[in-house]
Amino acid sequence: MNQCPKCHGNTFNKISGECADCSHHRHRDFVMSLKDGTFTGYEYMDRVLSLIRGGKKWRVLKKRNKLCWHPGVQTTNGKCVFCMLSAKSDSSVAIGNINEQRLANLTEELTVLTQYKALLETAVALGVDVPQEPVKRGKTRQEAIRDGDKWYTPDSRCKHCWSIGERYVENGRCRSCGK
Ligand SMILES: [Zn+2]
Ligand SMILES: [Zn+2]
Ligand SMILES: [Zn+2]
Repeated sequence: MNQCPKCHGNTFNKISGECADCSHHRHRDFVMSLKDGTFTGYEYMDRVLSLIRGGKKWRVLKKRNKLCWHPGVQTTNGKCVFCMLSAKSDSSVAIGNINEQRLANLTEELTVLTQYKALLETAVALGVDVPQEPVKRGKTRQEAIRDGDKWYTPDSRCKHCWSIGERYVENGRCRSCGK
């Protein structure tokens, strides 16, 4: 049986894991700190304190949140701020990273294309022959296998990171994102 290290109680909330007794104290700590302009020393509560002081229009309840026993702070549509933040931090970090990667891949591609465009424009203006396509294609999977290479260049974009970069011959994983 799990025991709370603080109060030795053994009833915990199924959603948040908050201890039945201590969650009441934490709510009180939170409200006190908010009034006094201090912090609680608990990272997750202090984060919410800073956000409220920074101008978030959240409602502070008289008691802890009924469902999850987090301190009583709710968004304007009645959702627990602590639950919302913990759900958000997982997914938004992942999405942020993958979009940064996609952007980097597209920017790289765009640089090559922009240079090629400038080259073509010059060729048109001078009325000379069209220069060679500058994008150096790597080996296909078959060529890579034939040459005993580790990497090949696919002809389609990676669905995950949008890179058109190399893939691992053995399992087809993208070199840029590993998917
Ligand atoms: Zn406890
Ligand atoms: Zn909650
Ligand atoms: Zn990828």
